[in-house]
Amino acid sequence: MNQLGAMLMLWLLPLRLDPVSVVGVALIGAADEKSELASLQEITDNLRTRLEINPIVQVTLVDHNPLVMSVETLGGRIGPFVITVDRDFISELGHDEIEASIAHELGHVWIYTHHPYIQTERLANEVAMRVIRRSAFEPVYEKVWRRTGIRGNLSEFIGPGNQQ
Ligand SMILES: [Zn+2]
Repeated sequence: MNQLGAMLMLWLLPLRLDPVSVVGVALIGAADEKSELASLQEITDNLRTRLEINPIVQVTLVDHNPLVMSVETLGGRIGPFVITVDRDFISELGHDEIEASIAHELGHVWIYTHHPYIQTERLANEVAMRVIRRSAFEPVYEKVWRRTGIRGNLSEFIGPGNQQ
């Protein structure tokens, strides 16, 4: 896998995070962060329903995620899944961009729970684009690339797009 492929990627390893620590992250934040987290969770739940993903997907905010955003499972195919979000990165995103980036991670979950053998960034975005317009992903990747200092090829990640 190249470095570009690592961005916004899924951690497929069935790491067993301590569920208590995940809850702890949600509980110890300041009031602002609680509402931010609640907002992220609401967006996630809404998109999860629209993408017809059954397992629970929880969002956590962390001070630094080298992948910017990532998702992992606490219990294999049946989850629950945890999306880990870099606090500074998400603060740079507008609402539509937040939706697009979470939909991307849910795209990985969808693949993992439906067709786990073909996990790619492109496919995660194809799933996400069932509910999010393609153009919302462009500024997200711009911000990822600015943050990481590595520029990728947009069409590699979200396809060539239509004439519009
Ligand atoms: Zn990804």
